[in-house]
Amino acid sequence: MAGFEDWLVHARAHGLDTRMMSRADVAAQITGSEKPWVGGLFTPSDARAEPWTAVPLLATGAQARGAVIVENCAVRALDLAAGRVAGVVTELGRIACDQVVLAGGAWSALFARAHGVIFPQLSVKATVLATEPLPEVFRGNAADDDFAFRRRNDGGYSLAPGASHDFYIGPDAFRNFGAYLPVLKKDFRSTIFHPAAPAHYPDAWFTARRWAADAPGPFEAIRVLNPAPNPKIVADVQARFAECFPALGRPKLKAAWAGMIDTMPDVVPVVDRATAVPGLVIATGMSGHGFGIGPGMGRVVADLVAGNATGHDLGRFRLPRFTDGSKIAPGPSL
Ligand SMILES: Cc1cc2nc3c(=O)[nH]c(=O)nc-3n(C[C@H](O)[C@H](O)[C@H](O)COP(=O)(O)OP(=O)(O)OC[C@H]3O[C@@H](n4cnc5c(N)ncnc54)[C@H](O)[C@@H]3O)c2cc1C
Repeated sequence: MAGFEDWLVHARAHGLDTRMMSRADVAAQITGSEKPWVGGLFTPSDARAEPWTAVPLLATGAQARGAVIVENCAVRALDLAAGRVAGVVTELGRIACDQVVLAGGAWSALFARAHGVIFPQLSVKATVLATEPLPEVFRGNAADDDFAFRRRNDGGYSLAPGASHDFYIGPDAFRNFGAYLPVLKKDFRSTIFHPAAPAHYPDAWFTARRWAADAPGPFEAIRVLNPAPNPKIVADVQARFAECFPALGRPKLKAAWAGMIDTMPDVVPVVDRATAVPGLVIATGMSGHGFGIGPGMGRVVADLVAGNATGHDLGRFRLPRFTDGSKIAPGPSL
């Protein structure tokens, strides 16, 4: 609860309607639970959205405003002229431009390193499941240390573990070990370590770190980073849900999936110009919150590229914070 009180300070500073909840408040909102929550933090204006619906709609909206979206086309490298961006080399040919936004999710650090821009991005595998329809216990989204859930349009719930995730050890894990020590200490027990990532993953042992722009590279070896869900985590979350809501019982599985969540040592994104490569803007490391903050990030990055005032102090998101001796303090995360 003390941690929530700390977070409330940030919420208030940004005009959110977040408030603390007592034990009775929680019991009134989330019905049918046997769990003795002592209280909580609630944001009534919070929203939820179905990615499969929202993302295509955002893409259609961007196209209607003039964006051109090219799918199944890997960018192999930046095209540089006198050290600055002159375009990108894609598998379908060159695109001339004087600015490029690198927003490649878990692939960003691999791409940037090949151009001498180095930052300590790593990824963890997160497993999620959807249940068959069940009675409603809460209309919104809720999370505690054991599991998180949100009501779905199809009448089921999306469920995720509170903290458990898989981590594949690779060269970047060793390189960035020191930077991640604080989060590692915190997350050690909830992390399932594996000695190697599947072949061709961004930090797999044998993934090329250098490649030629005129031949297929790592971004063509895997088109969509779509790891298999961890069945142990799926079963564990089903059990925790059943313990929390005994009247609903063990939820029937409708689907399970996983993805690689890209993160930074302070769990704060990087949104900045890469000064070593003029014309390159980096927007990555969304640290598990990129769906929610995506539209806002997109707006800020568009202004950054266009040279407009972004309306925000982007100091917290600066790229050199990992190399200029700044103290790396974890950001306010729920
Ligand atoms: C299981 C799971 C649950 C999550 N739940 C939530 C949630 O509840 N709320 C929330 O806010 N966030 C959530 N996230 C996090 C969110 O999905 C990410 O933060 C967000 O998708 C990151 O967006 P992005 O645009 O930075 O990267 P991405 O969505 O990864 O997009 C990057 C794209 O760039 C492409 N790409 C990379 N390199 C190249 C290249 N060289 N050439 C061409 N294309 C390239 C990739 O193929 C990819 O399509 C979740 C993530 C996972 C995995």
